[in-house]
Amino acid sequence: MGTLKDSTKYIFVTGGVTSSLGKGIISASLAKLLQARGYRVTIQKLDPYINIDPGTLNPYEHGECYVTEDGAETDLDLGHYERFLNTPTSQANNVTTGKIYQSVIDKERRGDYLGETVQVIPHITDEIKHCIQLLGENKQYDFVITEIGGTVGDIESLPYIEAIRQLRWEMGRRSLVIHLTLVPYLSAAKELKTKPTQHSVKTMLEYGVQPDILVCRSEKPLNENIRKKIALFCNVDANSVIESIDTNSIYKVPVLMREEKLDKVTLRKLNLPVSTPPELENWKSFLSKLENPKKDVVIGLVGKYVELMDAYKSIIESLIHAGTVNECKVNIKMIHSEHITPDNLENTMRELSGLLVAPGFGDRGVEGKILTVRYARENKIPFFGICLGMQCAMIEFARNVLNLPEAHSTEMNPSTSDPIIDIMEEQKKITIKGGTMRLGAYPCNIKENTKTNKIYNKTNITERHRHRYEVNNKYLETFEKHGMIASGINPQADLVEIIELDNHPWFIGVQFHPEYKSTVASPHPLFVDFVRECIAYSGK
Ligand code: GLN
Repeated sequence: MGTLKDSTKYIFVTGGVTSSLGKGIISASLAKLLQARGYRVTIQKLDPYINIDPGTLNPYEHGECYVTEDGAETDLDLGHYERFLNTPTSQANNVTTGKIYQSVIDKERRGDYLGETVQVIPHITDEIKHCIQLLGENKQYDFVITEIGGTVGDIESLPYIEAIRQLRWEMGRRSLVIHLTLVPYLSAAKELKTKPTQHSVKTMLEYGVQPDILVCRSEKPLNENIRKKIALFCNVDANSVIESIDTNSIYKVPVLMREEKLDKVTLRKLNLPVSTPPELENWKSFLSKLENPKKDVVIGLVGKYVELMDAYKSIIESLIHAGTVNECKVNIKMIHSEHITPDNLENTMRELSGLLVAPGFGDRGVEGKILTVRYARENKIPFFGICLGMQCAMIEFARNVLNLPEAHSTEMNPSTSDPIIDIMEEQKKITIKGGTMRLGAYPCNIKENTKTNKIYNKTNITERHRHRYEVNNKYLETFEKHGMIASGINPQADLVEIIELDNHPWFIGVQFHPEYKSTVASPHPLFVDFVRECIAYSGK
């Protein structure tokens, strides 16, 4: 157990057969098991697309964009890494083909290649290898787990697999390849089928990479024969064929991987001791609360990507964490903000014990969000507004309480006579879309004796941001006079970061994204308190 004296070990996780097998969860689960044995672990995601980062991607394309402390807009798998490990990730934990090429092309323009012809091998592969090894520098980590996005055989992922081939050769037993595949069950034949796995490993072999461990996603248990067959055809030990059975919660996967001995097999292959078992007490107590809730509650999540749960991944996970603290199952009702009208408002909201209005961009669905806020405010239903959700709360209040019927955000209506929400001064001159919002962690001072102060039990916090618009301070005094209090302020720029209503049991809006900081080990206080209040409301 404990920290390695010699150099960092590298674990590569690739995927075959299909996408969506849960590589991110397997990587995070293995990392959790190693961390629970006292090792320092980080996980990195390499995404083979050409966008510099997912910040410019539509959530329909790629789900949520997750933001790190240092302001990187990243793949949602980084959210899983942080939620499982409770350690922050950074810019270096998510690399895309776009970033790799940008860096190589910048070097070429600077003349760094001294007249060489710049090619995929070695220049692109060298850059990939550099990004992988960067995390291992300074001996900060015992393990760097690198997850390769996409599926082997894709044209885009070829340079990544080639980089792994080279690193395996250079590093020898300091590195390991875990390949995740699918073992489908054919109900007509009543059989699990290994052929797709065999083909997928063959594709790896064509590229010169022999996987050391196979994690086989399956809806039925793998019996001894199937394991032996896979081992035989894929040149791995039978104990290195790991079953990854479908389960109803991602949080069970570390325990399932422990039962399948994924951590032990990994350590043995890297010549490391396996004698002390991982310390998973806290994790297991979280799981036991998750699986045995004493009550349940229904919360409405109002947004415009309801068909796609991945678009609100971190919010949904934060509600699960908060439910667990409250020993309550949180049932989330997704509500499409575009479909909310004054006529169906009552019907849509009636069964709900709390309302969360989601972040977002652009004017599609905004009026539905504003109607939701009004309903929550007037009926004293617990309300939580995040980013655009908070901005909608202020617009609603301005229109219906401050008697400013034209109030809006200049994002939706640039010529509004009452720009309650306006573009930030430093954003005005920015024309480039990617990576230019107010991003990452900023400090916030909380006013004493506010509800927010009680919830955080602190007056200085930092939270992560991703926005261009903010509260227009010209209106602040009027808001406060009528009972909407700015309870959190960014001290450097005097920006409103948190608002709350004083004559409402629980009505809080935040300009930041608390959902990026909720983890299994440390559920976010705002979500925990919101769910507690929703439970209280449902009992009334
Ligand atoms: N569109 C709003 C802004 O840019 C809110 C952003 C968000 O909800 N993340 O300020």
